[in-house]
Amino acid sequence: MKTKKIIIFFLLLIPLIVMAIYANMPVKQPEMELVSKDINPDSIDITNPAYETSNSMDTTNLFPFPTEGIPVLMYHSISTAPGNTLCVSETQFQEEMAWLENNNYHTLNMDQLYDALVNGASVPENPIVITFDDGYADNYQVAWPILKQYGFTATFFVITNYVGTDTIDWNQLKELISQGNSIGSHSVHHLDMITLSNAQQESELSQSKQILEASLGTSIIAFCFPSGQYYDTTLKILSDTGYKLSFTTRPGKVYLGNNQFKLHRVRIDGGMSLSGFISQVSY
Ligand SMILES: [Zn+2]
Repeated sequence: MKTKKIIIFFLLLIPLIVMAIYANMPVKQPEMELVSKDINPDSIDITNPAYETSNSMDTTNLFPFPTEGIPVLMYHSISTAPGNTLCVSETQFQEEMAWLENNNYHTLNMDQLYDALVNGASVPENPIVITFDDGYADNYQVAWPILKQYGFTATFFVITNYVGTDTIDWNQLKELISQGNSIGSHSVHHLDMITLSNAQQESELSQSKQILEASLGTSIIAFCFPSGQYYDTTLKILSDTGYKLSFTTRPGKVYLGNNQFKLHRVRIDGGMSLSGFISQVSY
């Protein structure tokens, strides 16, 4: 009987010993959590299309390229100038971004659009591209804080000869890139391509790309035509100088199978009603 009691005593003791050992062991944190907390934005490769800074790409819910086409919004200045439809007021812009957010839209930057259009990559629900032409200072000062508030990214097409005059400056462009936005070329001098010789067009396209890449330390894949016009030869020069996408001012959405150098956009005018905006972008 005594031996049996001793055996039972030790059997009861074993779980207590095991618990005591585990209680003194250091607790190992899940590695994913440590990585996400210690992530250093400066060490991220922003040229990697898979990199996400915002909630704009939800990798759990991806879909094929929508048959309805992807709207590429074209804005210029976010400021108040009654009568000038290139200027969209801060209030109007805020309302439009709020509507997109409330209706589960997700922004694509240039790398993400290129991957979807050319490489067949999947896209998030209700994809949309937001672009700004001409590099106005208010793009950074007024539009960016609103975009950031909703977790959106955009593409800013800048004229290299004007950067840093009374426009957006180089440091602001670098910050926008670090936050997942794209910068595109809008040429060196903002001259209409159809007024230029092939050599002049080549110079505008290649010089602006080189200046942007040297100043910003990232590859520039997108161009937008000043005044929206081009020759067929312009498209070949674009391809030869290393661009992957270019945008016109022709109205319409981007569809799978479109020529990647003649992409249409949806122009958003100052004074446009919210219902007018919705009719342009709805899926
Ligand atoms: Zn322009």
